[in-house]
Amino acid sequence: MNRALSLPRRNMLLALAALPITAAALAVAPGVRAQEAGSATTAPGGDTIPTGEGNLVIHPIAHSTMVLTWGGHTIYVDPVGGGEAFEGMPAPTGILITHGHGDHFDMPTLEAIGATNVPLLVNQEVYDQLPADMQARASVGVNGEAATLSGININVIPAYNTSSDRLQFHPEGVGNGYVLNLADQRIYIAGDTEDTPEMRALTDIDVAFLPMNLPYTMTEEQAADAVAAFGPRIVYPYHFSGSDPERFAELVGTTAEVRIADWYGPGNADAEPPAPREETAQDAGDEADSEDAQ
Ligand code: ZN
Ligand code: ZN
Repeated sequence: MNRALSLPRRNMLLALAALPITAAALAVAPGVRAQEAGSATTAPGGDTIPTGEGNLVIHPIAHSTMVLTWGGHTIYVDPVGGGEAFEGMPAPTGILITHGHGDHFDMPTLEAIGATNVPLLVNQEVYDQLPADMQARASVGVNGEAATLSGININVIPAYNTSSDRLQFHPEGVGNGYVLNLADQRIYIAGDTEDTPEMRALTDIDVAFLPMNLPYTMTEEQAADAVAAFGPRIVYPYHFSGSDPERFAELVGTTAEVRIADWYGPGNADAEPPAPREETAQDAGDEADSEDAQ
């Protein structure tokens, strides 16, 4: 690195180190905080993960929705909440959808973000509900198979419930999780799932997004146990409405770096997941229908 360029950054860091802790904390990007002081690699407007081909920047939007930028790519994951949820974000170059529940798949949002003009990778259930113009640019990710989105190599990981009292929410064979292979980094977006054998058998995961809310996905204990099994380097709890990500972080301990982002903060108030757009007989009756987030 050019020495003349690196000096001001070092000086800035030294200056930050001299500040009282409260002021130094303010220097961390809003919406993202690290579990341990000094362990975050944050950047304004997002959380930065270096890869062998430039930085991945993670923008948590709300609940299960995020934007990932890397190289020339801007990938919208489970975009819901209307176009306004993505104000300030670059337009998508690709869209990933895990499954058809309303907190992951929302047609008005897809229309608002211009999804007719970009490739989509979805599950069969979502594909079947897309209009013809979006189907023309969409591909179906099949559990256990490889896929691509805008040239990014992706592994499609099954996402489903395994507890006998939760099977109706996410039956096996319907939903997708995705591992994005971004240069030397592997990013796992689990979708709505429990700690399936396929999740527990994952290897070389650098960043994992794991859901924990009952009755739809995992307990904090299950999610922490999964972390112990597949050993991601960094874990973001997400899709955790009604659960306690701090408790999850305690359970994980030093097994992985836990990053608790602001998925439900005041800035995201308008992005609360909409009530599921359509619930079918496979969903669990009236009590489940009254829940926002599935
Ligand atoms: Zn969900
Ligand atoms: Zn779901």
